[in-house]
Amino acid sequence: MAWVEAVSSNEPERRRYRLKNPVTLEPVGEFDAQNETEVSAALECARKAQPAWASLGFDARGRYLQRAVQHLIARQDDFVETIVAETGKPAVEAYASEIVASCDVLTFYAKRARRILADRTVPVHLVKNKKLRISYRPLGVVGIITPWNFPFLLSLNPTAQALMAGNAVLLKPSEVTAFSGQLLQELFEAAGLPEGVFQVLLGDGETGRALCESGVDKISFTGSVDTGRKVGEICGRNLVPCTLELGGKDPMVVCADADLERAANGAVFGAFANSGQVCISTERVYVVDEVADDFTAKVVEKTAALRQGEGGEIDVGAMVTPGQLEIVERQVADAVAKGARVLAGGRRNPAYPGLFFEPTVLADVNHEMEVMRQETFGPVLPIMRVRDEEEALSRANDSRYGLNANVWTRDKRKGVEMAKAIDAGAVVVNDCMVVYGVTEAPFGGRKDSGIGQVNGEVGLRSYCHAQAILVDRFGGKAESSWYPHTGRKLDRMKRMVRWIWGTPLGRLLS
Ligand code: NAD
Repeated sequence: MAWVEAVSSNEPERRRYRLKNPVTLEPVGEFDAQNETEVSAALECARKAQPAWASLGFDARGRYLQRAVQHLIARQDDFVETIVAETGKPAVEAYASEIVASCDVLTFYAKRARRILADRTVPVHLVKNKKLRISYRPLGVVGIITPWNFPFLLSLNPTAQALMAGNAVLLKPSEVTAFSGQLLQELFEAAGLPEGVFQVLLGDGETGRALCESGVDKISFTGSVDTGRKVGEICGRNLVPCTLELGGKDPMVVCADADLERAANGAVFGAFANSGQVCISTERVYVVDEVADDFTAKVVEKTAALRQGEGGEIDVGAMVTPGQLEIVERQVADAVAKGARVLAGGRRNPAYPGLFFEPTVLADVNHEMEVMRQETFGPVLPIMRVRDEEEALSRANDSRYGLNANVWTRDKRKGVEMAKAIDAGAVVVNDCMVVYGVTEAPFGGRKDSGIGQVNGEVGLRSYCHAQAILVDRFGGKAESSWYPHTGRKLDRMKRMVRWIWGTPLGRLLS
């Protein structure tokens, strides 16, 4: 069943879609996908608006973002209603991960961009007669393409960074959660952003492809590995810079000296929050033999206490699309066929017509199973017993993904050393997932999990070109390296090389 149903449009050439609520399965609305011509027109409009936006300066741009925060506060209930209707997530999760986090990122970049992107003077170690200034220039127009799991925050966060850096933005939110993406248009219109500085392009993969091909100055993509590769290929061909924030298969390592109560609570939250549809969900656990039984028993008990369903006080909501639910069913079936034991859940929840999969705990799993190798993106927690920490680390690294990981031990120093041994974009010690919520933390994957980083200083600067401006300090008729080239000049250069890099004093000073 196609979830985003294609329906006929009034215009024959137009692609039109109907969205459904994953809890009630009722339609939530229809939209037209924007086409190549509209993407080009939006780019033209953004190009016209961007220079004035850039020349406003950080304080003025920051004020627009602060006004957006005020609008978000005023409209938070309505925004959450739209997000919940499209995603089926519990309202508490929608507030925490979409509204609270969005207020934080808007405010953070509005206030900090001036310091992070201020021109810097850097001391020059060799060419002392030049002064180096680094100036963070906006790139121009940034295309942002986003997924459906946190449809508001994942659209807003890169947008806030790109805008504060002085760029105009064209946002293409997921077709699965088009209306949550469209809320950003309302937000920035209410904040009074000049026309053309921020535009939402509703559409599907074709619209996304058109945006990548349109001639924007950067693509900031968040989504699956397969689509990320396609986006990267287009950007490579067109020599357009891109960041690719892709999928993960995050490992959790539980040491014998871990606080097992906290680790079990963390495992359950890390695996089942947002129904497991978090790029940095805990997707596989490696627990050392000594504590494996205790840990697993606690996890199973805590999983059984979770309340699934819709409305008020629930813990685990629906999955967003039937396709994603089918992936989960397939991976669980594959694991069971290969010898895994289901300790909790294991099936679609029969109590509801909507897209609910029961929070599931699997034991006796191994790396032959899809559930330990492919991204699940659903509420499944496979637990693997390992001999010791060394085996846990080697299993954790045995993956084509490298987005995030978490390590649990009472010895924090050891936790940090173990974190460094895991080939992942970020590692959390004695907590999980929190990394995206720490705005200062650079965020981005290793291996198939992506290229480049968002967030923090590194992320904000990635929406700029760091322009080197070199100013000559002393003048004079000519530099010693300019014409004419003479034998004397060659001798002088040889002496200089010998002195600077060949003598102890030279090495000390260089
Ligand atoms: P997806 O790759 O199917 O879609 C992502 C976006 O790309 C959508 O807007 C889609 O319309 C667009 N798109 C599709 N085809 C395109 C093409 N050929 N060219 C350009 N754009 C195209 O991903 P999804 O199913 O929406 O999201 C789930 C995936 O996102 C998971 O793998 C998850 O791990 C990942 N994700 C990663 C992060 C991160 O920060 N690393 C965060 C959230 C989700």
